[in-house]
Formats: sequence, C-alpha cells, structure tokens
Amino acid sequence: KTFSKSILVTGGAGFIGSHVVRLFVNKYPGYRIVNLDALTYAGNLENLKDIEQADNYLFVRADITDESALNNLFAEFNFDGVIHLAAESHVDRSILDPLQFVRTNVLGTANLLNVAKKHWAGNYEGKRFYHVSTDEVYGSLGEEGFFTEETAYDPRSPYSASKASSDHFVMAYFHTYHLPVVMSNCSNNYGSHHFPEKLIPLMINNIRNSRPLPVYGKGENVRDWLYVEDHARAIDVIYHKGVTGEKYNVGGFNEWKNIDLVHLLCSIMDKKLGREPGASAKLITYVTDRPGHDLRYAIDATKINRELGWQPSLQFEEGLEKTVDWYLSNTEWIDHVTSGDYKNYYEEQYHSR
Ligand code: NAD
Repeated sequence: KTFSKSILVTGGAGFIGSHVVRLFVNKYPGYRIVNLDALTYAGNLENLKDIEQADNYLFVRADITDESALNNLFAEFNFDGVIHLAAESHVDRSILDPLQFVRTNVLGTANLLNVAKKHWAGNYEGKRFYHVSTDEVYGSLGEEGFFTEETAYDPRSPYSASKASSDHFVMAYFHTYHLPVVMSNCSNNYGSHHFPEKLIPLMINNIRNSRPLPVYGKGENVRDWLYVEDHARAIDVIYHKGVTGEKYNVGGFNEWKNIDLVHLLCSIMDKKLGREPGASAKLITYVTDRPGHDLRYAIDATKINRELGWQPSLQFEEGLEKTVDWYLSNTEWIDHVTSGDYKNYYEEQYHSR
C-alpha cells in the first residue's frame, strides 16, 4: 500500500497520544501513522488494542533521546510530519526526579528537532513539526485573568520548567533554521486510558475501592479541564490548519476547584455504585500540599476558536460521566497498568513480531 503522508507520533502509547493515534489511524486511512514510544510506566500498548491491526499503523519501541534510532526511522519512513507528545508528564514525579524530566523533555525534544532538521535538510515543502505542550509553562494565576498565547513563561515545577525549555527549543528551531513548527499549550485533560496517578482516575479508582481520597492542601487549587478526545480533535485541526511558527492555547473554558471536582466525582460515583448520597465524600482526606503548587491555571482559547474554528464538544458533567463509565467497565485495565501484568503482555507481543 502507498500512503499520501507519513506521520511520526511520539508518545502514542500514553494517555493523550493514544487518543491522537486512534483518531489519525481511523480518520486518515491514507496516512501511515508510526507510533514511537519507549513504553515507560506511563505507556501501554493496551491503550491501542482496537487499532493495532490497522494496515496504516505501526508501533516502534524507541527512546526519543536515541539519535541513531530516530535517524533510522526517518531514513526508513521519510516522515512528512511529526506530532510530538512523548514526555515525562507527572508533576509529583518531577519533584522526586527532575533530571529524568530534563533528559526526556528537554534533551529528547532537542534530539527530535535536530534529526528532523537533518533529514528534511531545508526542503520543508509539506513538512510539519508539531510540539504538544502544556499551560503549566505560564506559571500560576491569581483569582483573575487568563493565559493567552502572549503570556510570558514562568514555570514553577521541574515538569513545567522542562516543558517550557522544550517549547523554547521548538521556537528556536523555527527562528534559527526555519523548521516548520507549530505548537499548542493545553490545559488539564481527562478521559479514558488516563494513568491512575493523575487526579481524576486516581479519585475514581479510590472511590471504587473505598480507599481514602487524598486532596492536596485545602483543595483550593483551580484547574481548567478538557475532555481528551476534544484535545485530540484540536491537535488534528492544528496539525492540518495551524499557521507555521504559531502557537495555540487549547482549553475547556471549564475551571474547577480541586475540592469541588472531587465532590462532583463522589456524587456521580455514589449514583453509579448505588451508594447513599454523601457516602463516597466521607473518604476525602486532606494531605500536605505539593511544594510550589500553582494556585490557578486558566486558558484563553479564543485564538484557536476564532482562527481554526475549534471548540470543546462536551459539557464537563457529560464528559466526566463517560469517563467514570469507562473506568467502571474497564477495571481490568487499571489492574493491569498498576501491576506487572502488562509488561508480560508486551514482552510476548514484541517477541512474536
Ligand atoms: P503520558 O505520561 O500519559 O504519556 C507519555 C508517553 O510518552 C508514554 O507513553 C511514555 O511511554 C512515553 N515516553 C516517555 N518518555 C519517553 C522517551 N524518552 N522516549 C519515548 N517515549 C517516551 O502523558 P500525557 O498525559 O498523554 O501527555 C502527553 C503530552 O501532552 C506531554 O508532552 C504532556 O506534556 C502534554 N500535555 C499533557 C496534558 C495532560 O493533562 N495530561 C495537558 C497538556 C499537555
């Protein structure tokens, strides 16, 4: 089969990446989608079981810091585009091990940029390097205001500092070498296949198992939440229609205090599990705040809406209910990703190829 385009997606076995890979593989049967992922604890091929047999999909296990692996892939597949999502993504882990975040997020991104630059060798017709980033690079807001594309970077955690650095390298490759880049900064995502160390899946899993629900500080921190499939749609729109050298903020216009969000989840779960109203909320336990915990993030997503016509499709309550339903009917997924079972599955898969 010949393909009209060949796209490298990095981090496609992770939470957002798996939704992006699924969308592209299904929507663009004429594109070859190569999913490169190192399969860290956060990457699971199980996230893509439904499309792994598609003839326009290929998985390659590699690390984005491995220059020769990237060189070989570019030589073999002659990529038209890169959609770069591979990253260390958990703030709490970045506080414990910042250098791992420098290695993957900074060095890995610079390595990928450099290999793309080398292979495209100034012939940028039809080429695109899309870097997926976070709103956390903008730092913390008070009660008022929003992050726009012009907001100055002010990262506060090792995670956001490493993402900010990677964003700067992407723009530096645009300005210095004219690499055809495009970039987006998105707020917190939620949805299916989210590793249960993050707030929403952690709470769902703990409510299900009647375990304590750890809430940082007083639960006053405010985050904007976007349904992951809406983010994947934004990535599709930006990849195809975004202006080279531009960045787009992506958000849900949907701000929630952590404690209110946990209460909402508790009430949805009480209904789903047939518990007394208020039963799950009794599990809430306040724990010592995360050091340097940013108070509020809020995204102004007017630019992508006005210029590219994208907007979120789901109301939060609807998206949360779909998410809860997914976790309740995929309890074996949570059990697999939190145990060693999946690693064994992968070993068998990998060696049989
Ligand atoms: P995730 O942790 O679920 O997935 C990351 C994936 O990258 C995993 O599959 C992992 O195996 C892979 N990976 C990690 N290190 C690698 C390496 N050195 N080489 C190759 N692959 C490697 O993360 P996510 O939540 O899906 O986030 C994806 C991207 O989107 C990240 O760049 C993140 O900064 C960004 N982002 C996330 C959110 C969010 O709410 N989750 C919001 C905005 C932006």
